[in-house]
Amino acid sequence: MAHHVLAILNQPSAEAAPHDADAAPFAFVDPSTPQLSVLDLGATRGDGIFETISVGSGRAQALEHHLRRFAGSAEKLELPAPDLDVWRAAILAAIAELQPGAESWVKTVLTRGVEGDGRPTGWVYATHTSDFTRVRTEGIRVVTLDRGYRHDVESTSPWLLAGAKTLSYAINRAVLREAKRRDADDVVFVSSDGFVLEGPTSTVIYRVGDRVLTPGTGLGILDGTTQANVFRYAESLGLSTGFELATPDQLRGADAAWLVSSVRLAAPVRQLDGQPVAVDAEFTAGLNEYLLGLRD
Ligand code: PLP
Repeated sequence: MAHHVLAILNQPSAEAAPHDADAAPFAFVDPSTPQLSVLDLGATRGDGIFETISVGSGRAQALEHHLRRFAGSAEKLELPAPDLDVWRAAILAAIAELQPGAESWVKTVLTRGVEGDGRPTGWVYATHTSDFTRVRTEGIRVVTLDRGYRHDVESTSPWLLAGAKTLSYAINRAVLREAKRRDADDVVFVSSDGFVLEGPTSTVIYRVGDRVLTPGTGLGILDGTTQANVFRYAESLGLSTGFELATPDQLRGADAAWLVSSVRLAAPVRQLDGQPVAVDAEFTAGLNEYLLGLRD
């Protein structure tokens, strides 16, 4: 059983010619050997999309939601539509190569390929998850940072690709360095007109009384797969759920807050802009147990 696995897709999209007409739709290669052309637009321009999928007990979680979002991102970038049957098969085959039982994740990447070639590049990489126990129990210190776009950017300026999961994550990494300079661990983006958006790799969830809320879609933020499962969990406990715009002040006034995402799962916010936030340890533990236990 492998510790990490790489499958290269020969035919990432049914719309584009395969890389090798006679080869299988995907093939495993040694992940420690070079595979990508230095001319690939994914590497030179960040021109591509990705998904990161949690694997619990050998099963990809929220797989169909991830695949739908992957196809949606491709559409926003006007990339050839991914052949989801090929991607699904490659994802499942990669997971089957990993050590069974261990918490793991799979990343799917589709790029515009080598400039001028007209064929996209695609691969699936799978490996084991590092230990997030502390983050999931003790929580994280978060700062709000201005994203510089209005909350309606997705509809006013679709060419900015807000709400697509693109490979251009340099900003999403830069804000973590800014958080560190401010003695914090993570970030909540705020729109230029003052609304809470999302984390650089996570969705914001907050609880007000018995209502579990998130800012919602159409705000130039990702439609979170983990958020959808958090809502299912909250509803199973009899809590109500909803999509509501919030200001940073409203978030600071919430009874509890989390940044949720695949792989790290629910990280309770224990400090927001320097102010302590109560961590609901019992709800958080139950939530992470539920998320870890998901089988599809
Ligand atoms: N928002 C952004 C910008 C992300 O990158 C991610 C995931 O990496 C999320 C939200 C959370 O999405 P999911 O719960 O589907 O992992």
